[in-house]
Order: sequence, then structure tokens, then C-alpha cells
Amino acid sequence: MRASGYPLVEVDAAAALVLELTPVLGVERVAIAHCIGRVLAEDLVAPASLPAFPSSAVDGYAMRSTDAGKAIRVLGESAAGRPFAGTIGPGTAARILTGGVLPDGADCVVMVEEVRLDGDLVTTPAPLQAGSNFHRPGADVRAGEQVLVAGTQLGAAEIGLAAALGFPRLPVRRRPRVALMSTGDELVEVGGKPGRGQIVDSNRWALLAALREAGAEVRGLGIGPDEPEALRQLVVDALREVDVLVPSGGLSMGPHHLVKPLLESLGTVHVGRVKLKPGKPFTFATLPPTGGRRGDGNIAFGLPGFPVSSLVTFEVFVRPALRKMQGFTRLQRPTLPVRLAYDARPGADRTEFQRVRLHRDGRELVAETTGSQSSSRLMSLAGAHALVRIPPDDQGIKAGSIVDAMILSLP
Ligand code: AMP
Ligand code: MG
Repeated sequence: MRASGYPLVEVDAAAALVLELTPVLGVERVAIAHCIGRVLAEDLVAPASLPAFPSSAVDGYAMRSTDAGKAIRVLGESAAGRPFAGTIGPGTAARILTGGVLPDGADCVVMVEEVRLDGDLVTTPAPLQAGSNFHRPGADVRAGEQVLVAGTQLGAAEIGLAAALGFPRLPVRRRPRVALMSTGDELVEVGGKPGRGQIVDSNRWALLAALREAGAEVRGLGIGPDEPEALRQLVVDALREVDVLVPSGGLSMGPHHLVKPLLESLGTVHVGRVKLKPGKPFTFATLPPTGGRRGDGNIAFGLPGFPVSSLVTFEVFVRPALRKMQGFTRLQRPTLPVRLAYDARPGADRTEFQRVRLHRDGRELVAETTGSQSSSRLMSLAGAHALVRIPPDDQGIKAGSIVDAMILSLP
């Protein structure tokens, strides 16, 4: 083992550098049926008003408010999609159903529950307010109004709004395509029987889930070969079809650790070690376009082998980068102030992201440690609600203190 030649970079500096060197992906027009979770690439402007016509909010009678309190004649009906063709003059009304067009001449709708009907005469209550019980054209959306801004993630309401405004497709950013690979001679496939000294490859499945949840399309490369030329060929072939390479493991400088030398030979390693616990060997590289490949080249995240280290570095570095690629306005997890229920000791000379479970105490969120914070112990992250950032070289943070927590999920 030779000592790593890479400088130890501060977490924030490394994260900023990663984001700076991460490209924003191109735009594609996608059918709204497939837009859930996608990020709008352009502001959406209403081409027309909603509603487009004065639309009844209730079942009742369309009439003139000046006829309040009189018995007036019902001339016909305006149902949703079947407007009344005539005009409502003084002393007349039209039966109207919810969503029906308010007929010309009428200025209000009186609810069916408030009238007395006798043949084709309807007796209306008094007084009545002009403008009541119908939606004016443009009351919901005005033509020309900016309804959604670029960078918005499309959910059910946003997709419904786009459909209502007549957009069958929307401009969204491409999802990042990611090649995912584990490395290490000790790894066996899940479901296989580990021999002595072997362990099950769990990182690939954890990272597959994390990548998908962050919006990526993942191409699985399996367990990478431990032979430099075979590994190189696998990676070079994959790079033709993806935007991002995510290998885990193989980052220390021993003879079996091939990832850093490979990334160096393919491009530029910008970050080779970070002052982060867990996650010190985290590596970030940019790779120029390989022969015949269109586009911007690739970025690569070498994630540490220890399972918690790979997921914590994913949270700190990879997830915000994937969100930048997709055009998200907000790149980071939300943070909330929480009260520490334990004494948080600092991780020596590195910023530590400790895993905590949260519970509510009145209006406060209280953070309990998930126990041993060993980087191999996935139990420290399974069920954790948040990561609490503990600065290095410090007194630590005493129980009872309020700190900002990076929220993964709320209890
Ligand atoms: P490395 O970064 O290759 O030195 O890996 C450090 C440690 O992480 C190894 O000794 C393994 O115990 C563990 N590890 C590496 N890769 C994986 C993986 N894909 N799944 C689970 N554990 C792993
Ligand atoms: Mg290894």
C-alpha cells in the first residue's frame, strides 16, 4: 500500500466542485402520461384562460339578479357540454347544471335548493348578487399567465394543470443515464453462498435504489472484473451509452484497487479524498467523450466500498449532481432544526455525518443516534430519518443542542 497522493479536500469545497463540473442535460418532449417526477425544462405559459367560458358552480337556474324574488319562466337548459342557445331576458331563466355555460343575458345562478318550481315557473329568492355561483372566464388561470416555472418537478397537480391547458407533451430534462458497478474480489452475487472471506455485494442494490429514487436510469454492469484491461474495456463500452459512471469499492491504493488509476487514465480526477466521515476515499472525475460518442463526456463518482460510506457520499455528492443534471431548482435535501438527544463527539479531523432517528416532542424534532456509526454497519442508516453534520476538531455537540439536520424522511 502506498500513501494516497490526493489532497484531503473539505466537504463543502468538494461538493461545490462536483456541482460546478456537472452538466445540465438536454431537453426532450415527453407525453404527460410519462411525466410524473420529471423536471420541467421551460416555463409553462397558459395559451388560453381557464375556465374559457362562464361556468356554473352549482345545479340551479341562470337568471338576471334584478329578477330576484319573482316567479320567472324557464326557457330551457344549459348542461355541461350542451350550452343553452338562447338569451336570458327579463323575467326568464334557464335550468343550469354544474359546469354548464352561463347563458347570454344571465348574470347569476341561483341554487336549485333555494327556488320553488311550479310547472315552467320558478320562484326565486331575494336578494340575489350579480356574479354569484359561477366561475368567470380566467378566474382560475388567465391567458398568458406563467403557470409553472422551469425547474419544477411534475406531480399529479402540475400534470393535471398542463392537460387542462391543452399540452399533451411537456418539455422536460433528460434523466441521467448511469452505469453502476461493484468492484472487489471478495464479492458474490446476492443469493449466492459466500465462501470464507467473501461477502455479498449489497452496494449495487442499495445504490440502484438510491439512483432510481434520485431520478436516474440505471444500467447495471454487475461486479467488475479485477483485471485492469477487462475492467477498462467494460467501462469504456458502458461510457458510450451513459452520462455517469458509478463504481463502488476499489478506491484505496493497493494493487487490487483499480478504480482511481482507471479514472486517471480515462480523464481527470478532481477529488481523490475528502475530509468526510464516513467517505474519505470518495473520488470524482470528469471523462472527455470517448471515440465516436456524441455529447459532453461523462462524470464519474468513485464511491467507497463500505456500505454506509457509499450511501453517505451518494447523499452528499451524487444526489445533488443528479438533480442538477435533471434541471431541478432545489438540489439539496431539506434541512430542519432538531434537538440532539445524545452527546455528538466529533470524528477527529473530518466532518462527520451522523445518522439519527427523529421523533416529535411537542413542536420539536428530537434526534436519537442510530447506535454505532461504523461505516460497515448498514443498521446505522436503515430507518434513519436524517443526517446530522458534526464539524471536526471541536468540542463536539452536547445533548440538548439544536442543530440543522439533513432530512431523509420525516417520522
Ligand atoms: P474497498 O473500498 O474496496 O477497499 O472496500 C472496503 C470494504 O467495503 C470491503 O472490505 C468490503 O467489506 C466492503 N465492500 C466493498 N464493496 C462492497 C459491496 N459492493 N457490497 C458490500 N460491501 C462492499
Ligand atoms: Mg475492494
